[in-house]
Formats: sequence, structure tokens, C-alpha cells
Amino acid sequence: MNIPFVDLHAQYLTIKSEIDGVIAEVIRQSAFIRSKHVIDFEAQWAKTVGVRHCVSCANGTDAIYIVMRGLGLKPGDEVITTAHSWISTSETITQAGGRVVFCDTDRETFTIDPSRIESLITPRTVGIIPVHLYGQPADMDPILAIAAQRRLWVIEDCAQAHLAEYKGRQVGTMGTAATFSFYPGKNLGAMGDAGCLVTNDDKLASWSELFARHGGKGEHTIEGINSRLDGIQAAILSVKLPHLMKWTEERRKIAAQYDDHFAKLPTVRTPRIAANRTHVYHLYVIRVENRDALQHHLNESGIATMLNYSKALPYYPAYGRLGHTPADFPNAYHNQSRILSIPIYPEMTDEMVAHVVDSVSRAIGLCA
Ligand SMILES: *Cc1c(COP(=O)(O)O)cnc(C)c1O
Repeated sequence: MNIPFVDLHAQYLTIKSEIDGVIAEVIRQSAFIRSKHVIDFEAQWAKTVGVRHCVSCANGTDAIYIVMRGLGLKPGDEVITTAHSWISTSETITQAGGRVVFCDTDRETFTIDPSRIESLITPRTVGIIPVHLYGQPADMDPILAIAAQRRLWVIEDCAQAHLAEYKGRQVGTMGTAATFSFYPGKNLGAMGDAGCLVTNDDKLASWSELFARHGGKGEHTIEGINSRLDGIQAAILSVKLPHLMKWTEERRKIAAQYDDHFAKLPTVRTPRIAANRTHVYHLYVIRVENRDALQHHLNESGIATMLNYSKALPYYPAYGRLGHTPADFPNAYHNQSRILSIPIYPEMTDEMVAHVVDSVSRAIGLCA
């Protein structure tokens, strides 16, 4: 049995008639660019998250860039972000003219370690970007406390964490602003690129909307960029949104089965959820000492796996200029060679989950 890492077609088949229907409708209406579909989805997503404004854009990376421009990032301003994430989180800081300052992660939760943030703050620091990595919220209270005390902004990168909660608060509601990706493989995914930012700040929302759309239509009050969510993607997202809670529960059920079975394998460390947080399992990431061998054996059994991410950001050539060493980010460095993401998606059947569990158990035996 072959288990792909995700199966977007399987999800499509569960809602095929609705999806086909709305795509046909958008085509019939030629409602390709800013249209009712886009405006409706923005309103639905703002309501789902529990924020005043949702400004849609072309993808989750643009969303981070737009927010930073909206917050008035100036050349040389320093932004602190996590050492282990997808590169969108840090590349946008540079794009917006800022300087990336990496902070180590917590070894167990993979999210930014708040206890290491203070020592990175300089007179040039303007903000912090925590990432709710793999679907678990970062430890927001200490981050927000530092930000309030030092007058820094906070952008939550929620690209992997739709609907996750921290102490009863949904991700996206805690920072100055937050960003989401609706990349096809994300927990809520379009059929192409899509993203948005959310905020309760009226001024930031209206500036971002202006900036993302060429600085205004008719009257260009500022120079902007072109970053739009298109009508087809918005309509698809509106069809999928009512299913998101159920899909999230299904991810959690699979994670619980993995947790149970892998508890019997002492060399496999399963994801740890910190107190008062809920996990939405965009990714299920285990840690093992002989990761490459395990990945190889799973591949032989037809199980697709991924490395999210094979290096912490400071160790990619893109950040070679910063000259970081393993000792700078001991936890991220420790984790990068041990993490392995195994398949988790709502459409996995019990048989598929059982096959993954059996294959991991067998492969661990072979690795011993
Ligand atoms: C997916 C992702 C983004 C943005 O992704 P896009 O592909 O630009 O929509 C940003 N941050 C993280 C952590 C992500 O996983």
C-alpha cells in the first residue's frame, strides 16, 4: 500500500459537486478578480478567526510582507523571528527592508523560545514574528509581555495553524496582526496560491488593502503592489471553510492514534503539546536519532515522508552572510537532523493509518 504525504484529490472528491459548481459560477459571472466571492470569503474568515478585518492577498508570504510594510518597517530595523520555520517568515523581513534576527526554538514544541528573546533586543528592534509551527501555537503570553514592555509589534505567522488555540484564544487574535496561507496543502487550502492577513487595527487593515491593490483604484494615494486573491480561489475557500472544523478533528484523531501506538516505541518521540494549547496537526512530526535510516525504510514501504525543515533557517546558504554556528541555535540545530514528518490528512483511512503505524514499528526495528 502506497501512502502519499497528502492527497488533495481525495479531498476534492468528497466535495466535488460543490467545487465544480462554484468554479462554473465564477466563470459564468467572469468574477475573476475582486468580486462578491472575495469579499464574502474575507468576511467569513474574519468571523471564523474572531477579528475585525481580513485582507486577502495572493499568498501567505505576501501577507507577511504587506503587514510589515503597513507597520512602517524602515531600512535597518531589526525583526526577531524563529530559527526553525519555512523561509517565508524570514525572507519577507529582508524584502521589507529589515534585518532578520533569529531566535532559537523550544526543543520540545519547535516554536520560538520566549526566554531567549530579551537578549536579542537592541535599540533597532521593532517587532517579533512567532510562528505557530506544525499547527501548535507558540507560547504567546511571554512574547506579548515582552512586546508590550518594549513597544514592539507582533505578527503571528498562522500559515500552519488555522483554528489552533492558546489559552482559549484563537491564533490570529493575539498579535498586532496575523497572516494565513491557503496554499493547497495547508489545513484550509485553495486550488492555487492564496493568503490573507487579519487584524483588529482599522488603520493597518485599510492601508494594507490599499497597498496590496496598487495603492488604490482610480486615485493612487501610495505606490503599492499587486497581490490579489482571485475569485475562483475565494469561492473554493468558501466551499471548504464549513468543513474545516471536521477536517481538523479528523487530523486530531489520526494524531491520537499515532500517539498511542508510538508510545510503545521508546526511541520515537511524538509531538508534545504544551499546557493550554490545542494542536491542529498541519504536520505530525516525530523525532528519532537515526532519522535518515527511518526515512529510507519508510520510503521502501511506500510511505511518503517529509523533512520540515531539513535545516534551521540560519544554516541555509541564503543566510550564510549571518555567519551563524550550531551553538547559536542549539535546539533548532538538534532538531533539524532528528525530525521526520509522516502523513496526516483528513482523508486517511483507518487502514492507511494502520499501515503507517506498522511500517514505523517495523522500520524502527530495522534501525535498531
Ligand atoms: C506556507 C507558509 C507560509 C506562506 O506560504 P505561501 O506559500 O506563501 O502561501 C508562511 N509561513 C509558514 C510557516 C508557512 O508554512
